[in-house]
Amino acid sequence: MTARPWHGGELRWNAETEDWTVLAPSRGSRPHSAAGAACPFCPGPAEDTPPETWRLPGGDVGWRVRAVPNRYALSDRHEIVIESPRHDWDLATGTDGEVADVLGAWQHRHRALRPATAQVVVFRNHGLAAGISLAHPHSQIAGLPVLSAETRRELETARVHHRDRGRLLAGEQLEAALSDGKRIVFADDHVVAYTPFAPIAAYEVRILPHRAGPDFAAAGAEEIRATARCLRTILAALRAELGDPAYNVVVRTAPTGYETAPFLAWSLQLVPRLETPAGLELATGVPVTTVSPEHAAARLRTLVGMADVG
Ligand SMILES: [Zn+2]
Repeated sequence: MTARPWHGGELRWNAETEDWTVLAPSRGSRPHSAAGAACPFCPGPAEDTPPETWRLPGGDVGWRVRAVPNRYALSDRHEIVIESPRHDWDLATGTDGEVADVLGAWQHRHRALRPATAQVVVFRNHGLAAGISLAHPHSQIAGLPVLSAETRRELETARVHHRDRGRLLAGEQLEAALSDGKRIVFADDHVVAYTPFAPIAAYEVRILPHRAGPDFAAAGAEEIRATARCLRTILAALRAELGDPAYNVVVRTAPTGYETAPFLAWSLQLVPRLETPAGLELATGVPVTTVSPEHAAARLRTLVGMADVG
């Protein structure tokens, strides 16, 4: 039985899955926003956050995006990115520039939290089914002291693929989507968004630059602007198609120490939470989805105004 104390909780090793479980009792006490309750992230007298670690200055209240330590942290490196002073702001309805500012904050805090971690994860939860606890638009960045089983497996798969075939696995996936055409959601000179051939959920979308490097935090401003525009466009299309569904966005990027690995490429993974995993998923780990990626892409492509294919 392997366990290690960690930030007021514990990391326990699951010998069957060869993966860690995080025991984080303090997160059970985090607040859930109630209608009419004062919002701790809104500027004003009710604002209540730990001292900020970073801000993008500007706007009416002196900041446009800010980062603060997460009071109900999973680790000693766990921050909240407050994406806007406006409580009713959203990635799907903001401007391209505002969304790019949020992605820029993710990059900045990713770099800042990286020392003494095994991996830094960036994620955004939207809606109750995706695990949201406070309604004010925010995302989270957490440094972990271990690599998850999924991260270890993906690293090894990408490394072996690159060694044996001399090509990036992520690049081949992107090329397959481009040559097939039926799974492309959005494409311009800088970025491509597509639904994976074998998605883990209905309407899952991957967004990545044509030539993504291994490290999201090192991506250039032009790539980030294009990625932001693409993400906002697709979230708006998802709203139009499904009516503001719950979703998670995560940044898939190199773990600490792999920032220049030639076999990796970063991407954004957007996973709507429309279906509840049940017994088959639990028994096998195999996702079941009722919507084909070709159908999902065709619907979203129409909504983002891309020409249809096939
Ligand atoms: Zn608020």
